[in-house]
Amino acid sequence: MAATHPSFRDSVDIMFTRAASLMDLPPGLEEKIRVCNSTYTVRFGVRMRGEIKTFTGYRSVHSEHMEPVKGGIRYAMSVNQDEVEALAALMTYKCALVEVPFGGSKGGLRIDPREYNEDELERITRRFTYELSRRSLISPSQNVPAPDMGTGEREMAWMADAYKRLHPDDIDARGCVTGKPLSFGGIAGRVEATGRGVQYAIHEFFRHPEAMKAAGLSGALEGKKIVVQGLGNVGFHAAQFLSDNDGCKIIAVAERDGAVFNPDGLHIGDLYEHLRTTGGVYGFAGATSYTQNSLEALETECDILIPAAIEGVINAENAERIKTRLIVEAANGPITSEGDAILKKRGVVIVPDMYANAGGVTVSYFEWVKNLTHIRFGRMERREQEARHRLLVNELERLSADRGLGWTLSAGFKDKYLKGASELELVRSGLDDTMRGAFQSMAEVWQNDEKVDDLRTAAYIVSIRRIAQSYQALGI
Ligand code: GLU
Repeated sequence: MAATHPSFRDSVDIMFTRAASLMDLPPGLEEKIRVCNSTYTVRFGVRMRGEIKTFTGYRSVHSEHMEPVKGGIRYAMSVNQDEVEALAALMTYKCALVEVPFGGSKGGLRIDPREYNEDELERITRRFTYELSRRSLISPSQNVPAPDMGTGEREMAWMADAYKRLHPDDIDARGCVTGKPLSFGGIAGRVEATGRGVQYAIHEFFRHPEAMKAAGLSGALEGKKIVVQGLGNVGFHAAQFLSDNDGCKIIAVAERDGAVFNPDGLHIGDLYEHLRTTGGVYGFAGATSYTQNSLEALETECDILIPAAIEGVINAENAERIKTRLIVEAANGPITSEGDAILKKRGVVIVPDMYANAGGVTVSYFEWVKNLTHIRFGRMERREQEARHRLLVNELERLSADRGLGWTLSAGFKDKYLKGASELELVRSGLDDTMRGAFQSMAEVWQNDEKVDDLRTAAYIVSIRRIAQSYQALGI
């Protein structure tokens, strides 16, 4: 991109400022909320292949109006300070929007994980954890990382284990990261959570006639044509649930090496298997055509476009050529502020990242609460279950009350919970409640505030309002 275009962080700030300008914030508070509190850069060496290799890592803390701060750790060559700061800011707004009681943070390591074997990655990850731990940038009470691009359950297990070794007396050590394997303090449904949340977000959109009208859509979700960019953890699960559970047609999928098309709908399970075994989508037998230019897929005519890869893919260059009326941002920051302005003018409705992909951090919250309470979720002996579940429900509500969140569990969730649903059922139902509630609060501002004409601005307003309330309660 040319130097005159805004960077990722500028882009987030521009959209934030647009929303904040419609609000009546006390002097100085807008800036306090917008800026990143701190960004730590570390360079550390790991001896491997007969030499010392130096790696650069970051952990940015955007806002500590609630602690711990929360956000993933990304392993990619594109990682830099601007990127982690933008992503940390989005975590703050995302958590506030879905009323998860965390501040925002994000980390990254500048590395291409495909260039290292498992043993090397483990050593690098443990060393990075040590560096973060020395500065309290990983800690159950202060800063809780999670998976992001290039990391998953495996890396989280290494981090949790490394942390535990450094803090053997910390009884809550398991809550130092989320997204861990189920057998290592994780929670059912965390791996699918972001994709599942994207599905629930789309369900909620389809339940709102005014939203459907704005996007020129009618009828059921079944049969709708969808294009997905990125078949990583988020894109894969979203595409699979939308095609297998909801009967949508995924007519195009873009990946690193190019894009595949099939107007009758691609078989997502088979395509994912092909990608896993060959490293790309090229040559997939279930496709009718292929292009090497993966960005071209974004311009395919469809009902719903789901960018689920990286930031900045829809921008000033291609926004005019996008042929859909509804974009659901499964990735963080896939549309630049310039792209956003063009799309808005063209009447395209955007379901913003801070809402659409909040499923991951929502389920991370359930995992963290599970770790801290040391109580198992889900089905168990009836008597034991009733008592423990009541405890956990009380604990969740107490946490929310203590932090002035107003985060309540819906009657449906409590009922399921106390009756003893499985952990996965509970997680899904809690996630569904969260996605419905957050959409309502966003839609209310969108519908009722005449100055607001898009969902992103509405989402920012809801979230800035809540953060401002926390700061005011803190006396800052
Ligand atoms: N990396 C995910 C995100 O961008 C999840 C963060 C978390 O679970 O803390 O939202």
